[in-house]
Amino acid sequence: MPTGRGLASIDSQEGDTMFDQVNDGYCPQCLLEDKRVELMINADDIWECPECYLQIHNCNFFFMAVMHERGQGDLRNISAVGRVRGKILTKASVKDDFKADTSGFRSEEDFRSFLLELF
Ligand SMILES: [Zn+2]
Repeated sequence: MPTGRGLASIDSQEGDTMFDQVNDGYCPQCLLEDKRVELMINADDIWECPECYLQIHNCNFFFMAVMHERGQGDLRNISAVGRVRGKILTKASVKDDFKADTSGFRSEEDFRSFLLELF
């Protein structure tokens, strides 16, 4: 499976094509390992990955923000695939996990180093 990134990769206009900043409901951390894992709604109404417990908060119409704290795996059977489409992936604000730092991720490297700092 060489390029299983789906529709999102078609939209990337900038030079940095390695990292897909557009989210269509799959866990971005697992995508780094070429695994397509659907995000599910957790008990707190936050999207969460059933494999790595990454939590992603729906900030507004445009953005969804990766939170600094991973979830507990308390998931309901509602998938983000088909519900989340074309959202720009960004990081949660350092001060408030429910706010977005819309500067986003500059590159895959930037995203990877963010993941290393998660709780
Ligand atoms: Zn994951």
